[in-house]
Amino acid sequence: MMQIFMPLNFLGFVYREMKGSMANIEAMFALLRQQPRVRDRDSAPDLKVSKGELRFDQVRFNYTDDRAILRDVSFTLPPRHKLAIVGSSGAGKSTILKLLFRFYDTSGGRILIDDQDISQVSQHSLRACLGIVPQDTVLFNQSIRDNIRYGRPAATDGEVDKAIRMAHLDGFIASLPKGADTLVGERGLKLSGGEKQRVAIARAILKDAPIIVFDEATSSLDSSSERAILDAIRDISRNHSMLVIAHRLSTIVDADAILVLDEGRVVEQGRHEDLLAARGHYAHLWAVQQRHDND
Ligand code: ADP
Ligand code: MG
Repeated sequence: MMQIFMPLNFLGFVYREMKGSMANIEAMFALLRQQPRVRDRDSAPDLKVSKGELRFDQVRFNYTDDRAILRDVSFTLPPRHKLAIVGSSGAGKSTILKLLFRFYDTSGGRILIDDQDISQVSQHSLRACLGIVPQDTVLFNQSIRDNIRYGRPAATDGEVDKAIRMAHLDGFIASLPKGADTLVGERGLKLSGGEKQRVAIARAILKDAPIIVFDEATSSLDSSSERAILDAIRDISRNHSMLVIAHRLSTIVDADAILVLDEGRVVEQGRHEDLLAARGHYAHLWAVQQRHDND
């Protein structure tokens, strides 16, 4: 009994010791754990991105046999444009992202980047052309600088500093005792939701992928963070194609197109003003949010 107990106890100790850092890594790769579902074709070619156009062509998807989650979803994100997707919880927004990153293959229809079907190219080349600002940013117990450099490990300090400025993090970093070398995470500084999100934006800027996905956090941000993030997004979308999953509709009033998703269907599509004038789903979501903001 003792012999069995001891090693298990020891493993428990090791596990607890590792857990702090493991939790970070696990969260970071939580999506990637779903990866084995999808395999590359034999000698799948690499995706070749020139413009950065993204197109969903009648995409259908179901996780299980009995329930359709996406039903003929079609949209085009032209190069260097900003397309927003809104819809209530369960509408299928996250599923669209999972399909784009190819954690699953579609059940029907195609997803195309610069006219290449993403199911026919190597997964590493697909993910190399996609940057993501996730809902919840995971920070490692390292300096802010190293946390940002994670976006492109070979980046120089000068490139990291530029990304910091573009993500509107420079003011915040200047206020820290050791600047960008300040440690963050469990053993260092605790960042607010808005600051973490700007770290993620800086990472994505550093990665410099042609298509950037911004999965907006559901929690509200302090107004200075919100302003900074809006400005950063506007700057990024000048040079990148941006897909924004939006919860705060104020983030997307200037989007080139807004897609309203309901129960896996695109029920409306257009610019903010047009959708308000249409007095449909979007106008309703907007009214609800305005009322909420005024309370
Ligand atoms: P949203 O991000 O818009 O809230 P999701 O894409 O997360 O919506 O979910 C759309 C629907 O798919 C929901 O009804 C959800 O319950 C279902 N769903 C999400 N993930 C899975 C899964 N792994 N297996 C089965 N059903 C899922
Ligand atoms: Mg979601």
